[in-house]
Amino acid sequence: MSVAENIAQIKAGLPDHVQLVAVSKTKPAELLMEAYRHGQRAFGENKVQELVWKYEELPKDIEWHFIGHMQTNKVKYIVPFVRLIHGVDSFKLLKTIDKEAKKCKRIIPCLLQFHIAEEDSKFGFSMPEVTDMLHSAEFAQLTHVKISGVMGMATFTDDENQIRKEFACLKNYFDRLKTDFFPENADFKEISMGMSGDYLIAVAEGSTMVRIGSTIFGERNYLPST
Ligand SMILES: *Cc1c(COP(=O)(O)O)cnc(C)c1O
Repeated sequence: MSVAENIAQIKAGLPDHVQLVAVSKTKPAELLMEAYRHGQRAFGENKVQELVWKYEELPKDIEWHFIGHMQTNKVKYIVPFVRLIHGVDSFKLLKTIDKEAKKCKRIIPCLLQFHIAEEDSKFGFSMPEVTDMLHSAEFAQLTHVKISGVMGMATFTDDENQIRKEFACLKNYFDRLKTDFFPENADFKEISMGMSGDYLIAVAEGSTMVRIGSTIFGERNYLPST
């Protein structure tokens, strides 16, 4: 099936309130353009350099989502144009985004990434780390970031019950943070969870944003291209 058909099929199965972020990492510009011509505007990338060249090359009404692990020294390259940073996994990173965003007079929407999987390898906050941060005086001084919700990745497993449990856990974190810290804040509304293999479970557990790559663009090939 074509990229356009894949997007149409995924969208047909998503409720209206769930946004599709097309994860285009490693894929060439012409494939993104195929999705773009089909009306897709939100794209997700996980490498700063790749995001920057795609931003420069592709139409300016694309919404670029950064979904990867972000190094603080690279924040400055994407802050001028990025729409949403999904993987904010440390206070240090959030402070760096705030500092760089101030320089270019933008307010950057950010999602707090939680560690919900069993695997050690996945990045993310724990709930106590986040509550400590949100209670801190230092957090109150940040002016150029906007906490827009939470993000998480489930364990890579065939065990649907485990995946479901992990997504339910992230939804529960979202609900607790909403009640305790953001009750009057309409910006705090996103739950970014669900990828190609597990997005239907994520949607059933309350996702508002799914990040789908291989089901749209095909399997990724990580071999160097030169
Ligand atoms: C690559 C990636 C995705 C998309 O994965 P697929 O399985 O190809 O849909 C989603 N989220 C993150 C954080 C990723 O790195």
